[in-house]
This record gives sequence, C-alpha cells and structure tokens, in this order.
Amino acid sequence: MDGRILRQEVVKRTDMLKKVLVHICCAPCFLYPRAALLKEGYQVLGLFYNPNIQPYSEYQKRLQTVQELEKTGGMRIIYRDSYDLDEFLRGVAFREEKRCLHCYYMRLKETAIVARRGEFTCFTSTLLYSKYQDHESIRRIGTSLADKYGIPFLYRDFRSGWKEGIERSKTLSLYRQGYCGCIYSERDRYLGYKRPKQNKRIITEDKGMENEKTA
Ligand code: SF4
Repeated sequence: MDGRILRQEVVKRTDMLKKVLVHICCAPCFLYPRAALLKEGYQVLGLFYNPNIQPYSEYQKRLQTVQELEKTGGMRIIYRDSYDLDEFLRGVAFREEKRCLHCYYMRLKETAIVARRGEFTCFTSTLLYSKYQDHESIRRIGTSLADKYGIPFLYRDFRSGWKEGIERSKTLSLYRQGYCGCIYSERDRYLGYKRPKQNKRIITEDKGMENEKTA
C-alpha cells in the first residue's frame, strides 16, 4: 500500500472512531440530531438524564418512550436514571427567571462526565434541536464544561430539522409532551406565559448559579 492510500485508510479509520454522546431530553427530539450526526459519520450514543422533568409520572412517561425508541430503533442509550429533583429545585429556587441556565448546566455537566469516562470524542445535546431553548446559553455552558472536563462540546444547530423530526415522531407514534419539563413550564402552558429570556451568563462551578461568571 503506497503512502497516500495508507494515509486515506488512517483518516477513514479515525473518522469511523468518532464517537459522540448525545444528551437526550426526550425521544422525539433525539430523532433528527441522531440522523444528522450519523450522516456526519459519528457513532452516536444517547444519554438520558433529566431530573428537571416534573411531576414524576411525566418523567416516567418520557423515560419509557426513550426506552421504546431504543428497542425499536436499534440505537444505544445510556440511562442515568437518577431523579435528582432536590438538586434541581435547590438550583432554581429564588432564581426562577433564570432557571433554564441551571437546568442546562445540570444535564450537560452529567453528559460531559459520562462522555469523558467513556472516552467519547465529544458530547452534545438534543436541546440544540428545540426552537424554544436558548442556543447561545447552551453553547456557552457546553463550551465551559468542555474546558472543565477536557472533552469537546459539539455545537450543532439542529433546528433546521425541526419539522422533519416532528413528522418522524408522529409516524412512529411517539409520546409527545405538551410542555418543556419543569413545573414552571407546565404552569406556563396554561397561563400563556412566555419563558423568561435567559441571559448570557455561564455557570462554571458545581455550586451552580452562585458561581456564575459573565462570559
Ligand atoms: S423551562 Fe425547560 S429548560 Fe427551562 S428549566 Fe424548565 S425544563 Fe429546564
């Protein structure tokens, strides 16, 4: 094999080894990002960790939907089935207006830790598929965690696949929730409140919002 072919082989093998851990907020939101990342040549594994979902019956429903999708869709998912509700609520109490920052932080932090342990190439999140999430804050928190845990955060704007993902989830008859996850968002859908704008601050330490620093 000449040098050029050998180099191509090495590049090909390296590509095949690209392994991304995708934080999954719910089954429908996983469909498009997974397909897009597979197309990019990534080996895709999911991680379910969502202590923000309330009440517990709703959490169970979303978890079971992901499990069903895993069985029928031939995909691999890691479950961090730890319902850390107390930690979530402590993090948002008295800061309800900025609750999403803590919520992103908790879930992305867990993903970064598991990704590093599992020797993944990088990590990302299905939160980047949603039109309703604050992409800039997710990107900043992801990048900050990447620095802290030494594993790259893969930023992608999956919103272009919004409609495609919805259609596919309907075809598969997946359970589709009516609100984001926390009890505040459950209230807001009835009262018609808009989610407060999250600012561009990132959380850098385990103590959460108390140790925010301006990005
Ligand atoms: S609105 Fe959604 S992202 Fe924001 S805190 Fe609630 S569950 Fe988390």
